[in-house]
Amino acid sequence: MSNGYKYDLLVLGGGMAGLPVAMKCAYSGMKTALVEEDLLGGTCLNRGCIPTKTMLRSAEVANLARRSEEFGIDIDGAIEADMDAIVQRKDDIVESIREGACENVESNENIDFIEGHGVFASAHEIQVDNQTLSADTIVINTGARPTKPQIDGLDDIDVQDSTDLLERDSVPDSLAVIGGGYVGCEYAQMYSRFGADVTVFQRGDRLLPDEDPDVSEVIESAFEDEGISVQTDAPVTALSKTDSGIRVDADADDPVSVTVSDVALAAGRTPNTDGLRLEDVGVSLDERGFVETDDSFSTTADGVYAIGDVSGPPMFTHSARDDADLLYRHLAKDESISTEGRTVPWAVFTDPQVGHAGLTEQEARDEGYEVGIGRQDFADQGKPKALGETEGFVKLVTDAETDELLGAHVVGEQGAEIVHELVLAIELGATAEQIAETMHIHPTLPESINSAAGGVHKPS
Ligand SMILES: Cc1cc2nc3c(=O)[nH]c(=O)nc-3n(C[C@H](O)[C@H](O)[C@H](O)COP(=O)(O)OP(=O)(O)OC[C@H]3O[C@@H](n4cnc5c(N)ncnc54)[C@H](O)[C@@H]3O)c2cc1C
Repeated sequence: MSNGYKYDLLVLGGGMAGLPVAMKCAYSGMKTALVEEDLLGGTCLNRGCIPTKTMLRSAEVANLARRSEEFGIDIDGAIEADMDAIVQRKDDIVESIREGACENVESNENIDFIEGHGVFASAHEIQVDNQTLSADTIVINTGARPTKPQIDGLDDIDVQDSTDLLERDSVPDSLAVIGGGYVGCEYAQMYSRFGADVTVFQRGDRLLPDEDPDVSEVIESAFEDEGISVQTDAPVTALSKTDSGIRVDADADDPVSVTVSDVALAAGRTPNTDGLRLEDVGVSLDERGFVETDDSFSTTADGVYAIGDVSGPPMFTHSARDDADLLYRHLAKDESISTEGRTVPWAVFTDPQVGHAGLTEQEARDEGYEVGIGRQDFADQGKPKALGETEGFVKLVTDAETDELLGAHVVGEQGAEIVHELVLAIELGATAEQIAETMHIHPTLPESINSAAGGVHKPS
């Protein structure tokens, strides 16, 4: 589009929030420009959720194959990961989804898709190469990238980030994963199951620090059972090359030092806001560089909104999509919107899986609730026994005064799937009694939810 044309809406970044908000607003008649410098679909589709879950499935198959005898099945020969085939399967799946997204954009006559790096020229203008695009409303959706932490020697080492780990053509002999959040944990288990000798270094005192401590304990014990070394309270301070590989030094009470063939970084995400000239046009950033927004995605500049990862936590695809849906309703339908009070669940796709909704027990206590707890271990239930997956539990946190569900924490087989009825229960204000009285199918994993809810009223 040539200089001088004014769009109704300009969206900078075609990720999991930018793409749907552009599509929906364009369908409702707004003339929209969508600017993307890389691949449509952003992190989730190309470098995050879908590729990791696709490759984790390969790791799960390897693990089940190794356990086959437990289920009375003979498999002859070594179980080995063919990285070329694993990466190819992942690429094929990602490509098929991306093709669908591209077709939808191309066939939408109200969208101009502009490939290139956009920067703000003014609060209502984006410069892409030698074009200046203008609109009264601009949505920033530039996402985030892997953080490079301050570690001595890091720049001299060929470390791999979460994107590089999706493209490997061989399994590393040994891998140090720096970071024990969900990205670090998923990759640690994936590469351990592909055959690498894995050590996870975690700065804090447990893996998955956003989870209930009981959940972290189950994951740590599962990792140790699989031969993954977990180093907690162990911030990595230095990396150096040696004759036998890369030496990793961590500053624990008893300082830890290991030598590995490869190092992976999973130390958080940095927002893509540098170089956009945001502060020049009145868009304020917080101390970590995330765009400051209110509960309806407005930035400090009139008519400029920010959605998805670029505006800080929660940083998930489903929350980015929800942002997009809310903002569309505001921009195209003039509805008043707010993110206040929405339940943002999440999952960790380790094995056992983690499903998380609402408050942890500690968060509920910190907010002043008198808390009721119901817990059902999978080890005591029929379906987990039949599946051979007895690790984990369902833990429910209720307001003891009203019996309403405040939080739900599932760690175990299919934890990410079965938590959803509890997300709905929290959203609808259901009580533990109502959940306990709702018939659940036997034998299934969610029966544990039934039992955990029934246990809320019993003394612990
Ligand atoms: C390894 C990994 C695994 C993950 N797994 C999950 C998961 O299982 N479930 C889940 O919910 N979330 C997961 N996430 C998080 C999820 O990917 C993000 O929360 C989600 O992609 C955020 O969407 P977004 O639209 O905000 O940003 P993004 O998807 O990052 O999109 C931003 C887009 O903006 C473009 N861009 C940036 N700057 C410019 C510019 N100046 N000009 C033009 N274009 C620009 C980028 O190229 C990108 O396409 C994972 C993330 C990682 C890294």
